[in-house]
Amino acid sequence: MNTHAIELTTRDGERLRFECASDRNLLEAAADAHIVLPAQCGQGNCGTCYADVTHGNFTLGKHNPAALPDGADEGGTLLCCTFPNSDLRISLPFDHDRILIGKIQVRNAEITAVDAVGGNTIRLELRLSPDEDGGSVAEFEPGRFMELEVPGQAIKRAYSLSNTANWEGRLEFLIRLQPGGLFSTWLREQAAVGQALIVHGPKGAFGLYESGLRPRWFVAGGTGLAPMLSMLRRMAEFQEPHPARLYFGANQAEDLFCQTELKALQAELPQLQVIFCVWKPDDSWPGFCGTPVDALAQDLEDATVLPDIYLCGPPALIDAAEAAARAKGVPDKQVLSERFLPA
Ligand SMILES: Cc1cc2nc3c(=O)[nH]c(=O)nc-3n(C[C@H](O)[C@H](O)[C@H](O)COP(=O)(O)OP(=O)(O)OC[C@H]3O[C@@H](n4cnc5c(N)ncnc54)[C@H](O)[C@@H]3O)c2cc1C
Repeated sequence: MNTHAIELTTRDGERLRFECASDRNLLEAAADAHIVLPAQCGQGNCGTCYADVTHGNFTLGKHNPAALPDGADEGGTLLCCTFPNSDLRISLPFDHDRILIGKIQVRNAEITAVDAVGGNTIRLELRLSPDEDGGSVAEFEPGRFMELEVPGQAIKRAYSLSNTANWEGRLEFLIRLQPGGLFSTWLREQAAVGQALIVHGPKGAFGLYESGLRPRWFVAGGTGLAPMLSMLRRMAEFQEPHPARLYFGANQAEDLFCQTELKALQAELPQLQVIFCVWKPDDSWPGFCGTPVDALAQDLEDATVLPDIYLCGPPALIDAAEAAARAKGVPDKQVLSERFLPA
């Protein structure tokens, strides 16, 4: 088996090097070298690990053509299913601060709470077991996700963290129960306080990015609220002064969970405006009628400064919000998203 030298260059000019055998995909080989690149599905479906090969030959394995952006260059590829046939030079479309240097952590944890919060959604809280140094710090950037594995059952699913880093090893997730879903069924029927889970991560590249004091608008559908809560909680902890809006959408008013948490957040982050959006309200609903994308498009009409926009939830919501932002002239680099793709 041939091994090839791979050189990555980030958008801000940082160079990283590792080796990759011709039967191994670049994403896994990079992770083996402790270079954890932004990625989600690992199956050529989501497009998160898109990059541009500028020198060398490669084979792009099985993937979904829709995951490659329209008008991708000849060298445009998805690192999770790219196999090198020669040494490669690769240009990455993001800065080096999106790359995690180190091993993906795998740790044991225990369920400390599993509560229904409405909208067919569970709030799951875990506590990390102490590591080999005896510490149990939960260290992660807001917006990241973890993969949760049920021991012995080969079920592993990605979930966004909704809390912020802490010394006590606390991890909080908001999980919508999908009918017939493997993890959902396990949560509904078996999960209980004291049970063990294995957590892989933190992973991902979604999160706050620094752009001066530009307003930050967060658009969440359903449990897409989780990473938004994490980012807003961090803003509150650091008393960041950016104007902030949260558009939180659900089909019906009773599905708008976490209202108490959002009120508490507004008390700590007074500039935060929360716009609850109900798609199919009854006559008593006093708030915005429509999707969070409708509300976003409406408010962008009057925006004097084009905001940074953070999107999270089902892919259809994100596609619609990206189209609305583009139509109103928001530059693509000001729109960040996390898609909740099924495994
Ligand atoms: C990066 C990332 C972060 C995520 N964060 C969260 C989160 O914070 N909260 C959360 O609730 N989910 C999140 N998800 C989705 C989550 O990983 C699972 O896909 C979801 O919980 C279903 O898992 P399951 O095992 O219950 O269903 P599966 O056994 O995987 O699927 C069972 C059936 O349900 C369908 N299905 C699965 N997911 C959906 C969906 N979203 N909408 C409609 N049908 C679906 C499948 O197509 C399949 O037919 C995230 C996904 C990604 C990639």
